[in-house]
Amino acid sequence: MTHGSGQAPYRSGPTEKCGVVGVALDDRAAARPLYYSLYALQHRGQESAGIVTHDGFQQHDHVAMGLVGDAFDEADIERLNGESGIGHVRYPTAGSVDKSCAQPFTVSFKSGSLALSHNGNLVNADEIRDELAGMGHAFTSDGDTEVIAHDLARNLLEADLVRAVKRTMSRIHGSYSLTIMHDETVLGVRDPEGNRPLCIGELEDGYVLASESAAIDTLDGDLVRDVAPGELVVLHEDGSGFDSYQLVERENTAHCFFEHVYFARPDSVIDDELVYEVRRELGRNLWDESGIDTDVVMPVPDSGRAFASGYAEAAQEAGAGTEFAEGLMKNRYVGRTFIMPTQDERERAVRLKLNPIKSTVEGKTVTLIDDSIVRGTTSTQLVQLLKDCGAEEVHMRIGAPPIVAPCYMGIDMATREELIAANRDVDDIREAIEADSLSYLSIDAVADALNRSRADLCLGCVTGEYPYDIEGEATDREVERPVIDGQDLAADD
Ligand code: SF4
Repeated sequence: MTHGSGQAPYRSGPTEKCGVVGVALDDRAAARPLYYSLYALQHRGQESAGIVTHDGFQQHDHVAMGLVGDAFDEADIERLNGESGIGHVRYPTAGSVDKSCAQPFTVSFKSGSLALSHNGNLVNADEIRDELAGMGHAFTSDGDTEVIAHDLARNLLEADLVRAVKRTMSRIHGSYSLTIMHDETVLGVRDPEGNRPLCIGELEDGYVLASESAAIDTLDGDLVRDVAPGELVVLHEDGSGFDSYQLVERENTAHCFFEHVYFARPDSVIDDELVYEVRRELGRNLWDESGIDTDVVMPVPDSGRAFASGYAEAAQEAGAGTEFAEGLMKNRYVGRTFIMPTQDERERAVRLKLNPIKSTVEGKTVTLIDDSIVRGTTSTQLVQLLKDCGAEEVHMRIGAPPIVAPCYMGIDMATREELIAANRDVDDIREAIEADSLSYLSIDAVADALNRSRADLCLGCVTGEYPYDIEGEATDREVERPVIDGQDLAADD
């Protein structure tokens, strides 16, 4: 992902990757519920959107660049026949930014059709692609989703659906939540570490799989549960239920803690925790660890809002006079990505996005709460902005530990060189952003708010030690990537 000069998309924070969905209904077209679900998951990807359905005879697909509302019109939805289907919103994380990588990815082969939607990032896609290319598989994109599709298609020639998925899972290494459609059967698969979210919902006339429960709410459905790490869920074609297969078991999970901190919608429940409540708890923990009694505490919208409300509540319980205030207003029409040709203009970008309410800031001591600091550009600008508006002091509190290393699991986090915390301690960062004080949340406080042990979280970007075997990086557990040597894996079933 580019962040340098030229007409590169500029992103001020970490960028979420993708959202996936799958639906099987009884006697109702799947396209419209899929379309609404993608709307609910739009925050997870704005680059492309797509739906593939199956009507019992053939696949129908529509995949286009842009936001969900722009990618489909009424005629497109009408054309997508069939009572089962899968969908995808994408922000590119592996592969190039063009339509060849937009999803769902479809492939036809001897024993039927296959469509795949992927959220996450494989660490060993190149090894598998090389092996399959050597066997004659022709690839049309450089994305890792096509690698999964080809591997699964190949395994389906020799094995039934469940064994084929199991074989593919034994070969791919990395982060993946998948919705898959094999002919008209919809499946959901979550990687053995449960890095990215995936949940099951029940509708009046069927079942749905989605990255986040907010999509199930949008369809008036009920959240049944999360797909377990290493589990395969197969939706019944008639919408009457689903079958579950626990295909891989691991001692520990590696949930991405950033889902709760930043990426997911606050109204989603992920791995049994309501995101909004976790953020409030993170805010409370922030007060406990590094609270400072200022006149006001204000969030950097949107995700900072729940942190600041928890922080203010804990401050008041402790007898501090700190009041919650909405002091920064967001321009809703500036997306997460916009073009900023020069560094100078990028530095001004924050004014396009956020504007202070002078009266809530002037003459006040302010605590500003954000979910993370990536490059530090936004924080520097915000501190300056508040001081220009008359803030007497600006103290920054961050609802996550310092980001010291990149993400290889599908989040656009920036490179080590770009990360302000990669080579600086907290005081150096405070100086760089010109705040009066700066504190981050500890890893233990994050684990506490998530009700998980550290060993069950991915903490790669804040520790530099990853739950996957990534070339040139350290691991935080005993883990080895599978050996891809071209041998037939049938014997391992
Ligand atoms: S490295 Fe960070 S952003 Fe990436 S999956 Fe792990 S916790 Fe999430």
